[in-house]
Amino acid sequence: MSDRINKPYEFLDDENVIIANNFNTHHDWTKTVFNQIKVNIITHLRNEQENKCCYCKSELGFDIKEMDIEHIIPKSEYESFTFHNKNLALSCPACNTKKSTKSVLNKKCSCYPRSGNAFVIVHAHYDNYSTNIFIKDECVYVPRTSKGSDTIKYCELYRFLDVIEKARKFQIKKSPLAQLTEGLRNASESEVNEFIELIKDKLNNN
Ligand SMILES: [Zn+2]
Repeated sequence: MSDRINKPYEFLDDENVIIANNFNTHHDWTKTVFNQIKVNIITHLRNEQENKCCYCKSELGFDIKEMDIEHIIPKSEYESFTFHNKNLALSCPACNTKKSTKSVLNKKCSCYPRSGNAFVIVHAHYDNYSTNIFIKDECVYVPRTSKGSDTIKYCELYRFLDVIEKARKFQIKKSPLAQLTEGLRNASESEVNEFIELIKDKLNNN
Protein backbone atom coordinates (compact mmCIF):
# COMPACT_ATOMS: atom_id res chain seq x y z
CA MET A 1 0.00 0.00 0.00
CA SER A 2 1.29 3.44 -0.87
CA ASP A 3 1.28 5.90 1.99
CA ARG A 4 3.15 8.79 0.51
CA ILE A 5 2.20 11.82 -1.58
CA ASN A 6 1.69 10.51 -5.10
CA LYS A 7 1.14 13.85 -6.81
CA PRO A 8 2.89 17.06 -5.77
CA TYR A 9 1.02 20.35 -6.12
CA GLU A 10 1.34 21.72 -9.67
CA PHE A 11 1.65 25.51 -9.63
CA LEU A 12 -0.62 27.32 -12.09
CA ASP A 13 0.98 29.65 -14.65
CA ASP A 14 -0.23 32.79 -12.87
CA GLU A 15 1.03 31.41 -9.54
CA ASN A 16 4.48 30.93 -11.08
CA VAL A 17 4.37 34.57 -12.19
CA ILE A 18 3.45 35.73 -8.65
CA ILE A 19 6.31 33.67 -7.22
CA ALA A 20 8.80 34.96 -9.79
CA ASN A 21 7.79 38.57 -9.08
CA ASN A 22 7.67 38.40 -5.29
CA PHE A 23 10.10 35.79 -4.07
CA ASN A 24 13.72 36.74 -3.41
CA THR A 25 14.68 35.29 -0.04
CA HIS A 26 13.09 32.66 2.18
CA HIS A 27 11.79 35.46 4.43
CA ASP A 28 9.37 36.32 1.61
CA TRP A 29 7.45 33.10 2.33
CA THR A 30 5.24 35.01 4.79
CA LYS A 31 4.23 37.72 2.29
CA THR A 32 0.45 37.99 1.99
CA VAL A 33 0.70 37.90 -1.80
CA PHE A 34 1.31 34.14 -1.45
CA ASN A 35 -1.76 33.48 0.73
CA GLN A 36 -3.99 32.14 -2.03
CA ILE A 37 -1.21 29.94 -3.37
CA LYS A 38 -0.79 28.47 0.12
CA VAL A 39 -4.51 27.78 0.36
CA ASN A 40 -4.31 25.91 -2.96
CA ILE A 41 -1.24 23.93 -1.81
CA ILE A 42 -2.99 23.00 1.45
CA THR A 43 -6.18 21.90 -0.30
CA HIS A 44 -4.22 19.66 -2.65
CA LEU A 45 -1.91 18.15 -0.02
CA ARG A 46 -4.67 17.61 2.54
CA ASN A 47 -6.29 15.29 0.06
CA GLU A 48 -3.02 13.56 -0.91
CA GLN A 49 -2.05 13.04 2.74
CA GLU A 50 -5.57 12.04 3.84
CA ASN A 51 -5.42 14.96 6.25
CA LYS A 52 -2.57 13.46 8.28
CA CYS A 53 0.74 14.94 9.41
CA CYS A 54 3.55 13.64 7.19
CA TYR A 55 5.74 12.81 10.22
CA CYS A 56 3.48 11.58 13.02
CA LYS A 57 0.30 10.73 11.06
CA SER A 58 -1.90 12.61 13.53
CA GLU A 59 -5.08 14.07 12.13
CA LEU A 60 -4.54 17.67 10.99
CA GLY A 61 -6.84 20.41 12.23
CA PHE A 62 -8.64 22.88 9.99
CA ASP A 63 -7.54 25.97 11.86
CA ILE A 64 -4.42 27.64 10.48
CA LYS A 65 -2.76 27.15 13.89
CA GLU A 66 -3.28 23.39 13.70
CA MET A 67 -1.36 22.70 10.51
CA ASP A 68 1.81 23.92 8.79
CA ILE A 69 3.13 23.82 5.26
CA GLU A 70 6.35 22.05 6.01
CA HIS A 71 9.55 22.58 4.00
CA ILE A 72 11.18 19.16 4.05
CA ILE A 73 14.58 20.70 3.28
CA PRO A 74 14.57 23.83 5.48
CA LYS A 75 13.97 26.95 3.39
CA SER A 76 16.61 28.79 5.43
CA GLU A 77 19.20 26.25 4.24
CA TYR A 78 18.12 26.09 0.57
CA GLU A 79 16.14 29.21 -0.31
CA SER A 80 15.65 28.07 -3.88
CA PHE A 81 13.57 25.09 -2.67
CA THR A 82 11.07 27.29 -0.81
CA PHE A 83 8.46 26.83 -3.55
CA HIS A 84 9.73 23.53 -4.93
CA ASN A 85 6.62 21.36 -5.06
CA LYS A 86 8.43 18.19 -3.92
CA ASN A 87 9.75 20.07 -0.90
CA LEU A 88 6.29 20.84 0.44
CA ALA A 89 4.15 18.67 2.71
CA LEU A 90 1.67 19.25 5.53
CA SER A 91 2.70 18.64 9.10
CA CYS A 92 1.31 19.32 12.54
CA PRO A 93 2.91 22.39 14.20
CA ALA A 94 4.52 20.17 16.89
CA CYS A 95 6.46 18.07 14.34
CA ASN A 96 7.39 21.17 12.36
CA THR A 97 8.69 22.91 15.49
CA LYS A 98 10.69 19.89 16.66
CA LYS A 99 12.20 19.22 13.23
CA SER A 100 12.93 22.95 12.91
CA THR A 101 15.94 23.69 10.68
CA LYS A 102 17.81 20.40 11.17
CA SER A 103 19.55 19.32 8.01
CA VAL A 104 17.82 16.37 6.34
CA LEU A 105 20.23 15.66 3.47
CA ASN A 106 22.97 13.04 3.39
CA LYS A 107 25.13 15.47 1.46
CA LYS A 108 24.93 18.94 -0.09
CA CYS A 109 23.03 19.19 -3.37
CA SER A 110 22.62 21.72 -6.15
CA CYS A 111 19.34 20.45 -7.67
CA TYR A 112 16.41 19.07 -5.73
CA PRO A 113 17.10 15.34 -5.09
CA ARG A 114 15.06 12.97 -7.23
CA SER A 115 14.82 10.09 -4.79
CA GLY A 116 14.48 9.42 -1.10
CA ASN A 117 18.05 8.06 -0.93
CA ALA A 118 19.38 11.59 -0.52
CA PHE A 119 17.41 12.08 2.71
CA VAL A 120 18.12 11.09 6.29
CA ILE A 121 14.42 11.16 7.26
CA VAL A 122 11.22 9.83 5.68
CA HIS A 123 10.44 12.02 2.66
CA ALA A 124 6.70 12.53 2.29
CA HIS A 125 6.86 12.34 -1.53
CA TYR A 126 9.45 9.59 -1.99
CA ASP A 127 9.19 7.19 0.94
CA ASN A 128 6.36 4.99 2.12
CA TYR A 129 5.77 5.82 5.76
CA SER A 130 4.87 2.33 6.92
CA THR A 131 8.02 0.85 5.38
CA ASN A 132 10.02 3.02 7.79
CA ILE A 133 7.83 3.46 10.86
CA PHE A 134 5.24 1.25 12.52
CA ILE A 135 2.77 2.99 14.82
CA LYS A 136 1.80 0.58 17.57
CA ASP A 137 -1.65 1.06 19.16
CA GLU A 138 -1.87 4.48 17.44
CA CYS A 139 0.58 5.96 19.96
CA VAL A 140 4.03 4.34 20.05
CA TYR A 141 6.41 4.90 17.11
CA VAL A 142 8.56 1.89 16.28
CA PRO A 143 11.34 2.38 13.69
CA ARG A 144 11.63 -0.21 10.92
CA THR A 145 14.63 1.40 9.22
CA SER A 146 17.37 3.86 10.15
CA LYS A 147 15.36 6.51 8.29
CA GLY A 148 12.40 5.73 10.50
CA SER A 149 14.61 5.99 13.54
CA ASP A 150 15.98 9.38 12.47
CA THR A 151 12.49 10.69 11.69
CA ILE A 152 11.37 9.70 15.20
CA LYS A 153 14.42 11.51 16.64
CA TYR A 154 14.12 14.62 14.45
CA CYS A 155 10.45 15.16 15.26
CA GLU A 156 10.69 13.75 18.79
CA LEU A 157 7.81 11.39 18.16
CA TYR A 158 8.35 9.98 21.65
CA ARG A 159 7.02 13.34 22.98
CA PHE A 160 5.78 12.06 26.30
CA LEU A 161 2.56 14.00 26.77
CA ASP A 162 1.52 13.40 23.16
CA VAL A 163 2.04 9.66 23.55
CA ILE A 164 -0.05 9.62 26.74
CA GLU A 165 -2.85 11.55 25.03
CA LYS A 166 -2.79 9.27 21.99
CA ALA A 167 -2.77 6.19 24.23
CA ARG A 168 -5.78 7.58 26.10
CA LYS A 169 -7.72 8.08 22.87
CA PHE A 170 -6.77 4.60 21.69
CA GLN A 171 -7.92 3.08 25.00
CA ILE A 172 -11.24 4.90 24.85
CA LYS A 173 -11.76 3.61 21.35
CA LYS A 174 -10.99 0.04 22.40
CA SER A 175 -12.82 0.01 25.75
CA PRO A 176 -15.62 -2.56 26.15
CA LEU A 177 -18.17 0.23 26.59
CA ALA A 178 -17.01 1.94 23.40
CA GLN A 179 -17.28 -1.38 21.58
CA LEU A 180 -20.83 -1.91 22.87
CA THR A 181 -21.81 1.61 21.84
CA GLU A 182 -20.37 0.94 18.42
CA GLY A 183 -22.29 -2.34 18.34
CA LEU A 184 -25.51 -0.50 19.20
CA ARG A 185 -24.91 1.95 16.38
CA ASN A 186 -24.69 -0.91 13.90
CA ALA A 187 -27.28 -3.17 15.49
CA SER A 188 -30.28 -4.50 13.64
CA GLU A 189 -33.71 -3.76 15.10
CA SER A 190 -33.88 -7.12 16.87
CA GLU A 191 -30.47 -6.65 18.49
CA VAL A 192 -31.00 -3.11 19.82
CA ASN A 193 -32.58 -4.11 23.16
CA GLU A 194 -29.89 -6.66 23.81
CA PHE A 195 -27.18 -4.03 23.29
CA ILE A 196 -28.98 -1.54 25.52
CA GLU A 197 -29.14 -4.14 28.32
CA LEU A 198 -25.45 -4.94 27.94
CA ILE A 199 -24.55 -1.23 28.06
CA LYS A 200 -26.73 -0.72 31.17
CA ASP A 201 -24.99 -3.68 32.81
CA LYS A 202 -21.60 -2.29 31.93
CA LEU A 203 -22.49 1.17 33.33
CA ASN A 204 -23.85 -0.32 36.55
CA ASN A 205 -20.73 -2.37 37.07
CA ASN A 206 -18.35 0.54 36.54
ZN1 LIG B 1 3.08 15.57 13.41
